[in-house]
Amino acid sequence: MPELTPMARQYQEMKALHKDAILFFRLGDFYEMFNDDAELASRELDLTLTGRGKDDNRMPMCGIPYHAAEGYIAKLIEKGYKVAICEQVEDPKLAKGLVKRDIIRIVTPGTVLESSMLSDKTNNYLLAVNHEKGRFGLAFVDATTGEFKLSDFNSIEKLTDEIKRIAPAETIVSDLFPEEPRRLVAGSGFKDTYDNDTAVEKLLDHFQVKSLESFGLTGQEVALGAAAAILDYLKVTQKTTLGHINVLKPYHPEAFMFIDATTRRNLEITQTARDKSFRGSLLWVLDRTRTAMGSRLLRQWLLQPLLDVKLIEKRLDAVAELFNNGLLRAELGEGLKKVFDIERLTGKAATQSANARDLVALKESLHQLPKVVNLLEKAGSELLKEPRRLLREESRSSVAGSFVAEITELIKEAIVDDPPFVIREGGLIKPGYNAELDELKQAASGGKQWLAELESAERQRTGIKSLKIGYTRVFGYYIEVTNSNRDQVPPDYIRKQTLVNAERFITPELKDKETLILNADERMKELEYQLLVEVRTKVAAFTKELQAVASAIAQTDVLLSLAEVAVENRYCRPKVTGNGIRVTGGRHPVVEKTLGEFQFVANDVELNERTSFLLITGPNMGGKSTYMRQVALICLLAQIGSFVPAKAAELGLIDRIFTRIGAMDDIYSGQSTFMVEMTETANILNNATANSLIILDEIGRGTATFDGMSIAAAVAEFIHNKIKAKTLFATHYHEITQLAEKNPGMQNVSMLVKETGDQITFLHKVATGPADRSYGIQVAKLAGLPNEVVKRAKEVYNTLEMVENDLGKRGKKNEKISGNRLSARAGQLGLFGGGDGDRRRGTGWTGGRSPA
Ligand code: ATP
Repeated sequence: MPELTPMARQYQEMKALHKDAILFFRLGDFYEMFNDDAELASRELDLTLTGRGKDDNRMPMCGIPYHAAEGYIAKLIEKGYKVAICEQVEDPKLAKGLVKRDIIRIVTPGTVLESSMLSDKTNNYLLAVNHEKGRFGLAFVDATTGEFKLSDFNSIEKLTDEIKRIAPAETIVSDLFPEEPRRLVAGSGFKDTYDNDTAVEKLLDHFQVKSLESFGLTGQEVALGAAAAILDYLKVTQKTTLGHINVLKPYHPEAFMFIDATTRRNLEITQTARDKSFRGSLLWVLDRTRTAMGSRLLRQWLLQPLLDVKLIEKRLDAVAELFNNGLLRAELGEGLKKVFDIERLTGKAATQSANARDLVALKESLHQLPKVVNLLEKAGSELLKEPRRLLREESRSSVAGSFVAEITELIKEAIVDDPPFVIREGGLIKPGYNAELDELKQAASGGKQWLAELESAERQRTGIKSLKIGYTRVFGYYIEVTNSNRDQVPPDYIRKQTLVNAERFITPELKDKETLILNADERMKELEYQLLVEVRTKVAAFTKELQAVASAIAQTDVLLSLAEVAVENRYCRPKVTGNGIRVTGGRHPVVEKTLGEFQFVANDVELNERTSFLLITGPNMGGKSTYMRQVALICLLAQIGSFVPAKAAELGLIDRIFTRIGAMDDIYSGQSTFMVEMTETANILNNATANSLIILDEIGRGTATFDGMSIAAAVAEFIHNKIKAKTLFATHYHEITQLAEKNPGMQNVSMLVKETGDQITFLHKVATGPADRSYGIQVAKLAGLPNEVVKRAKEVYNTLEMVENDLGKRGKKNEKISGNRLSARAGQLGLFGGGDGDRRRGTGWTGGRSPA
């Protein structure tokens, strides 16, 4: 192996410490990547692969200009890589020998701080899971805002459900975690060595407290290991202060309505089921927030509906107050519009990554606060009083009076109104803020004045009109004379550089001044940077106060958004009471938006102790799914503290919502559609309680008719008799409607249809009693099935109907004809060519017209 150059050795040492990251190695104005990293980056980033060194020492290399790094890093992070950034940590001009370098940060998907790599509207979570003595612990942090929470679980299912809710950008897993579930919780997540014994110590040290009890922690030991692992990971990757991570909040998922991943998808809470788009989701209808932090909070609320009536009422009170006060709504909206992401800006200040523009944005946001808070002066509801109370309290505790005014003033005095993005090139600080800086500026501009005077003096002395003074980074200041005037150059000019059509000269006098000017320039940039850091540090001292204000403002923003949506869409305040569901004139919040105003047909629902189970029949396209989902969404909305799309609603608390809807092919799980359906049903039957809401849409359709029908009937009875949960059960098996006759808590309802000759119109209205037929063929016709097929289907249908009537006459009056007698007879008639009728998916004929 040939001897490595000192720089190559330095590179190897750095790389050895960060094998799992792509190393960005700073060389002058570039970040270079070498060897495998270079090959990978050239592929992923479309960069030209070159090389450095000779022969055996040659290393593949590719590079990017340092000022464009952010975009490239973003691309790599998005593709799931980590990037270690190695900087020159001393001034190359002052370095003796090789410039010192160090890793200043490792950027990973869960630890990104740059706005350009993040979505404003979602949190970016880094999550850690731990496993010890049969229990599972989880902790997660949003490094941009400082939110830090933990919880523990006694089963892996509960743990994975919660991880799916949190949807982390990056997961780290204890190496103690068993291999198989590890894949389940973290996919290709990063495996780390946790030290559970020192976890508490680390946390105490980070938070600078004597006991973790102050955070309300009780017996979440396993989660503590995960929390400590997160701090370790952040320290290794960020290498900066983490002052914004100043509380650890334990929480219990049981304190919130439980919505499993399937239900979240089926109810399309934050994205649609089909193409995962935001448009068409519940959040899409609800999100009118003005601030990024409000938008993130609303999403959190939607994914964690409350179970505490007092809290729900508090939110409802605030929404009601805003609902009833149009002027306040309008003014508050105007105020909030000018508030930026205080939460993340504070995070940036605390981690020393805020630039001058961030500070100006913070200033402008804080400048709005007193106005916003004053608008709420007369507010009566508790939550709307919060921002005002908070600002008052904080003001009292702050030495200089209001900390908001203090920070606003400081930034206003120090930082120019429209600063550049980079912070090391000067142009940040206002005149009058710092005397030394002002002097340096004076000196520098004096120097420039001197240069201008020198230029005109030299033009006069030499008689060369086109003589000019210029500057390059390499040669410094020079006097340039074009070739045509070369013979007029005085003897005291020293030649420095020859161009194609000009010569450049210097004079000792010019060089003396150059040192002065350049030194002033350098010093100015350095001083400006120092002053910025100083201001940033002063701001960071108010991290806690800023975080509290940010969260109160975010909450106000969410409440306002809910009120506006309620006004615009004619929602009503739900009464959260009792333990039934009674909705008059309920609507589906999303479908009604997509249908256009007043097109949507409102429907009532009543579920109580007497009738807890609705069997819903009706034609395809009749509106069954929409109806069932709207009931679930109304309950969910009420429990986040929102008004609901209805004329009136009285709702008891729902502890969990379960849904089993449609046949969502899950080809990735390697299970068949029917298997997925049954697994989901099993989950419901095992976990629902009397206070749950269950929605089952056509269960048992993925298998043969009789199997399916039997399973559907058994499931319905089990829920009705044992679980007693409130249930909406849609089915195409008309036989199932007979269950209502012997199960007192069950009731049949159906979607009304108007039939004119051969045409049907869906009325989308729910009526009591079962549907008398399916209209499958009519719907198929509407869908554009070829006429020939429709015609033949009708023939088959009519024959079957005849057969049914025939058998019915011979049987007892009102006896429901069983499907197998029917299909056996159909087989005898040779209806389906072969002997045995296809018993799969009997829609359209199995039930047929009810003989009653
Ligand atoms: P299938 O049995 O085929 O699944 P379905 O009975 O579940 O059908 P939905 O999917 O709920 O029917 O509704 C079909 C369409 O009917 C919806 O996309 C919507 O456009 C319209 N619709 C549903 N409910 C209403 C309503 N209450 N008012 C107006 N239009 C409605």
